[in-house]
Amino acid sequence: MSDLNYDVAIIGAGMVGATLASLLSRSGFSVALVEAQEPQPFDAESEVGLRVSAISPGSSAILEQAGAWKLISEQRARPYRRMQIEDGVELDPLLFDAPQFNLERLGTIVENELVQWSLWQAVSAGGLVDTYCPDQLESIEFSDKQNRVSLKSGKVISAKLVVGADGAASGVRKAIGIRQDHYAYNQHGLVAVVGKQKPNPGVAWQRFLPGGPLAFLPLADGRSSIVWTRPSAEAERLLALDTEAFINELDVASSGWLGRVESCGPRAGFPLSMRLSECYASQRTVLIGDAAHVVHPLAGQGVNLGFADAAFLLESLIKVRRAGGDIGAGAVLQDYDRWRRSESEAMAFGMHGIRSLFNIEGLSPLRRVGMALVKRSWTVKDMFLQRATGLQRGAPKLATGTSLNELLHGNG
Ligand SMILES: Cc1cc2nc3c(=O)[nH]c(=O)nc-3n(C[C@H](O)[C@H](O)[C@H](O)COP(=O)(O)OP(=O)(O)OC[C@H]3O[C@@H](n4cnc5c(N)ncnc54)[C@H](O)[C@@H]3O)c2cc1C
Repeated sequence: MSDLNYDVAIIGAGMVGATLASLLSRSGFSVALVEAQEPQPFDAESEVGLRVSAISPGSSAILEQAGAWKLISEQRARPYRRMQIEDGVELDPLLFDAPQFNLERLGTIVENELVQWSLWQAVSAGGLVDTYCPDQLESIEFSDKQNRVSLKSGKVISAKLVVGADGAASGVRKAIGIRQDHYAYNQHGLVAVVGKQKPNPGVAWQRFLPGGPLAFLPLADGRSSIVWTRPSAEAERLLALDTEAFINELDVASSGWLGRVESCGPRAGFPLSMRLSECYASQRTVLIGDAAHVVHPLAGQGVNLGFADAAFLLESLIKVRRAGGDIGAGAVLQDYDRWRRSESEAMAFGMHGIRSLFNIEGLSPLRRVGMALVKRSWTVKDMFLQRATGLQRGAPKLATGTSLNELLHGNG
């Protein structure tokens, strides 16, 4: 069988890989997208999924350029205009309101399945991307001119650049031999869909409790999707409780916020860790999304970092192509590695620090100092907000200061 030839071969069509595939194909690159599991069609009548993401305005701008945001926003998406952070000790919460920062919203809560399905629709539309699904990466043969990717089906794809978007256990990362530091938090993120006495008015609420934060993220129907970070043994205990007993404990943990907990659907727990790869690019191959980095979900930034990886890579590849260069050249990879690794490491260690600060038991002076610092300092508030919204001074800009829109439409 002769090789199938592409500019870029992307392994993994999760939220991040599918975004990159759509962005690249819309910019004229030939793209192969390999995915192990066929995404399920999104059913608007079904119960709300357990996995949701807080999508920053910067990320929704990226998803818009990928042709998916319209599909997402017409479905079960809930914008939020306020973030409210409490430490369970101080009486006054820390508030971030969209109008204070001249923003319409601070973010949007969307089910992961809806994001993935909308992107799948976008890449399938017009046959711009060749999808290999269900199929899986078997091995990669690296060479100077292009890489050869063998799939489980026996097909062989050649590409100038291979992208590993295959999640935390990335086979692409293992194939290049990139080492990864793994810090297990010994915590689980417990997720469920919860209804309170009063509907959620569009606020992303988070209370830092000893043992880990509890977040209520607003859903389109007025309920909230919770992420309750607990030490792993404690999470196991909470998962084993019957619904009524679980509701009672959740009631205590979220007391004073929108009244009593009235309903709770199925629950699931995810082990939490920080994973940082020693580099993100080598041998005509780059890593994006969770394949490159996994951060603590307390600020809901994991997939947002992945979308920014995709946007940055797109920007670099368009510029190289315009200059007549090779999109898999060492200089392109080094640039991507330097920019994206510094951003992700800053985020990962930032989350790590905040987690440690608020993880301290009781009325520790350190907890108070941390909260007071964040409250009083506009610089810190601004930094928090820029990180959380993915925006720098209002408009979604890429690393070099060009907006994604300008770049894609030829003015950047
Ligand atoms: C409890 C919790 C809450 C979170 N909340 C948020 C939030 O609010 N906001 C946020 O930004 N982030 C959040 N995150 C993080 C976010 O979920 C992840 O960062 C994101 O899902 C990663 O997407 P990805 O596309 O990189 O990887 P994945 O979603 O892991 O996708 C990888 C894809 O690759 C495919 N694949 C794997 N191996 C192969 C192979 N060999 N061949 C072919 N295909 C393959 C898989 O089938 C999959 O589709 C949260 C995480 C947790 C645990």
